[in-house]
Amino acid sequence: FIQIKGVSKWFGAFQALKDINLNVRKGEKIVICGPSGSGKSTMIRCINHLEAIHKGSIVVDGTSLSDSSSAIDAVRREVGMVFQSFNLFPHRTVLENCTLAPMRVRGMTKRQAEENAREYLERVRVLEQAKKYPSQLSGGQQQRVAIARALCMEPKIMLFDEPTSALDPEMVKEVLDTMIGLVRDGMTMMCVTHEMGFARQVADRVVFMADGAVLEEAPPEEFFRNPKHPRAQAFLGEIL
Ligand code: ATP
Ligand code: MG
Repeated sequence: FIQIKGVSKWFGAFQALKDINLNVRKGEKIVICGPSGSGKSTMIRCINHLEAIHKGSIVVDGTSLSDSSSAIDAVRREVGMVFQSFNLFPHRTVLENCTLAPMRVRGMTKRQAEENAREYLERVRVLEQAKKYPSQLSGGQQQRVAIARALCMEPKIMLFDEPTSALDPEMVKEVLDTMIGLVRDGMTMMCVTHEMGFARQVADRVVFMADGAVLEEAPPEEFFRNPKHPRAQAFLGEIL
């Protein structure tokens, strides 16, 4: 469903991704972990072409990202992304945050977009905040709005980049629970996170990255019980 083949990327002379190969099946949940600077965000951002790649290919649901700008648009319509820092539009209400893109990109009428948005806001349990501005919400609520906003585009794939790492501990669970709800609905998901409880609970595979390379992939039970690569062993020793 997502095919990442031989992908390399440089920032100037610095190689941030080194020959990455990764296939994700439809409905599969992948957790990506690894030390800071290992290229996790860069890899996630390449999948919807927020970053360009220099070698290799990325194919999302049959569309190759290297093709053309129309291919990039097609992929972006299928891929929802949620960042560490929420990235809501500060001068728009919660409801407007969720309706702008569906109206502009999907051509929905305001009425359709609002109906759709209310459904997803309800699903992540922030509908009662619909008229507020992002600054009037808690971090956990903002992140749930960000998830609802992504879902309003009806994506086939959700990418998360450390969605809970900017949250106070008491808000982490509400966001993870929202994500677990998506998992139950069969969403294809790639998530960068160090929430290892979440990884154990939902991941089909854990992908460990270091220095721009994928060093290990394994089902969570196996990865946590018996990491093979010395870098993975050292990493788990530090975070667990
Ligand atoms: P973290 O856990 O801290 O979020 P990460 O695994 O997500 O780390 P990336 O953000 O993908 O790491 O960065 C990988 C490497 O690429 C880092 O060394 C970083 O400094 C470098 N890098 C990332 N973005 C840029 C950029 N726009 N220009 C130059 N170097 C960059
Ligand atoms: Mg990162």
